[in-house]
Amino acid sequence: MKIPSHGSPKANRPGWFGPFGGRFVPETLIEPLRELEAAYAAARRDPRFKAELGHELATFVGRPTPLTFAGRLSQELGLRVWLKREDLTHTGAHKINNTVGQVLLARRMGKKRVIAETGAGQHGVAAAAAAARAGLPCVVYMGTDDMARQAPNVARMRMMGATVVAVDSGSRTLKDATSEALRAWSSDSRETFYVLGSALGPHPYPTMVRDFQTVIGVEARAQILKEEKRLPREVIACVGGGSNAIGIFTAFLKDKSVALTGVEAGGTGMAPGRHAARFAGGFPGVLHGTRTYLLQDANGQVLPTHSISAGLDYPAVGPEHAELRRIGRARYVHASDKDALAAAHELCRLEGILPALESSHAIAYLIKARKRFKKDGVVLVNLSGRGDKDLGTLCP
Ligand SMILES: *Cc1c(COP(=O)(O)O)cnc(C)c1O
Repeated sequence: MKIPSHGSPKANRPGWFGPFGGRFVPETLIEPLRELEAAYAAARRDPRFKAELGHELATFVGRPTPLTFAGRLSQELGLRVWLKREDLTHTGAHKINNTVGQVLLARRMGKKRVIAETGAGQHGVAAAAAAARAGLPCVVYMGTDDMARQAPNVARMRMMGATVVAVDSGSRTLKDATSEALRAWSSDSRETFYVLGSALGPHPYPTMVRDFQTVIGVEARAQILKEEKRLPREVIACVGGGSNAIGIFTAFLKDKSVALTGVEAGGTGMAPGRHAARFAGGFPGVLHGTRTYLLQDANGQVLPTHSISAGLDYPAVGPEHAELRRIGRARYVHASDKDALAAAHELCRLEGILPALESSHAIAYLIKARKRFKKDGVVLVNLSGRGDKDLGTLCP
C-alpha cells in the first residue's frame, strides 16, 4: 500500500494505526490539536480527572449499563444472545460516555464554549447535555436533511440551551456538518473546544474517543464472564464512525478466541451512493483529517452515501477499524436498510426493546448470520442506542 509522503506510519507513532490515522489538517489546526493532545495526556495521568469522570459516569450517565439476556431472540436463533444496553444511558445512546469526558476536559483547559457536529442528533444531544451541566454554551452543526429526519433530537438540543446551526451545503448530512464544525473550530480555537462525536478525525480524536468509550467493553467483558463463566464467541457492533464498536472491541482485543464483527450500513444496494459500506465499496483516502477507508471516486472525490440510519450515513470509517481489518483482528460486514428495519421490529416484538436503527444493523447481521454459530453459541451485541428518535421511520 502506498503511504502518503506527509506522514510516516512508524510503529507506535502516536496517532497512527498502522498506515491509517494521522493528522491531515490545515496549519491553523496543528497547534490546537497539539494543545488538545497535551491536555488530554495530562488529564489521563491525573487521578482527580479519572475520579471526576467516574463519578459523572455513575451519577449522570447511569453506568454501569446492564447486560440483558435476550431470551426469546436466543430461542429463535438457537444461540445465547446478550445485549449490552447502551440504550439505557442518559440521552439514550453511547455518545454520552464520550461527551461527558470531552466536556470535563474542555473545562479543565479553561475553554469558554464547545461546538459539535451531529448526524442522527444523538451526539448533538449528548454534547448539549454535558455542556449544560458544565455551564458551557454549546453550538451544534447539523445537516438540514438530518434535521428533518431527526426532528425530536433538534428539539432536545434546543431545550438544553444549545444553538443548532443548519448546514445546507453538500449532501446536507454528517459529512458537511463535520466540515462546518472543523471550519468553526479553526476560526476560534483559543476559546472553543471541539467535541468530536466518533473515533474519527485528526489525532488525538480517534484515540481519545476510543478511550472514553472503552468503558462499554470493560463492563461487558466482566458482566458476561460473571453470567456465562466464559467469553463470547463473537462481539458484534454497528459501525458508523466506529466509536461504539471500538468501545466494546477494545476490551476483547487480546482474547484471540473472540471474533469481532463490525456492521456497516448496506443501504439499498452496492451501487455508489446507495450505501455507507466503506470497507466493501471504498479504498484508503483522507477525509476530515484522518487517513482511512473512504467512499470516493477514482479522482478522490468523496461519494454521496445513503443509510436509513443517520448515524451510519458517513463516507469514512474510524482509522483504527481500518487497521483491525488490515491485520485480520476484526471483520466488517454490512446490513441493508430493509434488514435493519425488520430487525428493529423483531427486537421490539421478541424482547420489548426498541433499538436505534443504527444498532438494528448489528441485530440484522446476527439474524442473517445465525448459521455461522454453533448451537447455543454465546454472542454479545452492543445495543448502541434506543430507537425513540426513529419512530417516524419505523412506523410511518
Ligand atoms: C451515532 C450512533 C452510532 C454510530 O456511531 P459510532 O461512532 O459508529 O458508534 C451508532 N448507534 C447510535 C445509537 C448512534 O447514536
